[in-house]
Amino acid sequence: SYAIIARMLRRTKIVATLGPASERRKTLCKMIRSGLDVARLNFSHGTADDHRARARKLRDAAEECGRDVGLLGDLQGPKIRVMRFETGSVHLSDGDAFFLDSALGIDDGTSAGVGVALETLHEDVRERDTLLLNYGLISLRVERVEGTRVHTTVVDGGILSDHKGINLKGGGLSAHALTDIDRENIKLAAELEIDFLAVSFVRSGDDIREARRLFQEAGGKGLIVAKIERTEAIDNIDSIIEAADVIMFARGDLGVEMGYAGLTGIQKSLIQETRKAHKIVITATQMMESMIDNPIPTRAEVSDVANAVIDGTDAVMLSGETAVGKYPNKAIQAMAEVCVGAEKYHAPQGETRRVEDQFTRVDEAIAMATMYTANHMDVGAIVALTESGSTTRWMSRVRSDIPIYALTPHKATKRRVALYRGVYPVEFDVDAHVPGRLYQDIFATLLSHGHVSVGDLVVFTKGDLQGISGNTNVMIILRVPEET
Ligand code: PGA
Ligand code: MN
Repeated sequence: SYAIIARMLRRTKIVATLGPASERRKTLCKMIRSGLDVARLNFSHGTADDHRARARKLRDAAEECGRDVGLLGDLQGPKIRVMRFETGSVHLSDGDAFFLDSALGIDDGTSAGVGVALETLHEDVRERDTLLLNYGLISLRVERVEGTRVHTTVVDGGILSDHKGINLKGGGLSAHALTDIDRENIKLAAELEIDFLAVSFVRSGDDIREARRLFQEAGGKGLIVAKIERTEAIDNIDSIIEAADVIMFARGDLGVEMGYAGLTGIQKSLIQETRKAHKIVITATQMMESMIDNPIPTRAEVSDVANAVIDGTDAVMLSGETAVGKYPNKAIQAMAEVCVGAEKYHAPQGETRRVEDQFTRVDEAIAMATMYTANHMDVGAIVALTESGSTTRWMSRVRSDIPIYALTPHKATKRRVALYRGVYPVEFDVDAHVPGRLYQDIFATLLSHGHVSVGDLVVFTKGDLQGISGNTNVMIILRVPEET
């Protein structure tokens, strides 16, 4: 069917958030068949039991479809929010006086002011600062601070309801990246054996190292994702990229703190920097926002997704579109189509082939030799026998149109490489093959999935001692034979 062909040809991966709109088994199966590669659990909403149930349904659906779908757990982080209103919401008009006060009772908000979940707010703001609420839909100018009370004037009014987020324009609201709730959710993430743990409002590499330590102490084995969504993260981007496995360009909060005008340029350099450091990158937020209500995307959204693909992102992400939208499956279909369409375009500056680089690792050198070879010959497929997937990560940092198949016996590795651009997981147990028939067995597996055709040239990488991670030290080129 079209969906299967589109999935085979699509290199850019799709992350989609699970929520009330996408928790039925039938919907999940459709989404997986349409191309869902990694499912996101958003720990900002729902209970631990909601997440347990969603994780189970996702895994059941993936099993039913015979697909390897990764699971990403997204910590809520120190998102600063207003407390609750006596009436659930208030209407703020331009020019009104409105205060924020961390000492106000949590249910005592009125149209005069509201409580706020940051004890140091009054120390963190200055006269004439701009506070942005609900992703900037409402903005307040700080007039003066009296004790814990921050008096403001409404600049852009609107309806403000319980628990909406607050950002300080320009950044700088101090808060530790990992809250007590996050620490609980890290344990939940380990219990759910999630493949990717996303840390929100990261400030530095230290935040990432701390999250990784807590996750590993809880028994977690997944990769760590750093969400770039505050000004401080841009200032410390090198140390964050170094400490993290995956970078998420979280345009929602970042756009509020830094202003949206600079986002596109930052996206381009961030994707480039991340790929140069051999890390994985996800582009997130509002990519198909109008599909929360509509069955088709706007042309601007099509262009946004396509540009992220052309920038070289590994994955594009859906949030509300699949969590609470009316068309979760159509959003994935549209995204998949746009990715395939955009991948036909080759950006003129291309990717460096790293001809000037010095390689420090044997597996990296083999991976680079493989990509150089494959890109300069008529090669049908690249096949890596891999334990952790790291060889395919090196490979996928080099631009190519040739599919990279990660052959591994490990389910966790299959779910991990599901996020890597141009890499496709295939179950294959090297240790179980008939001695002397390794390549025949591999060809039989690849032919049975339709991944290669008789006569194709295939570039293989492997380690001459399997079962040791990072041991890839062999490249070999074979033609798929007539008889296997
Ligand atoms: P969120 O993060 O969806 O958890 O807010 C993404 C963003 O801020 O863009
Ligand atoms: Mn955010």
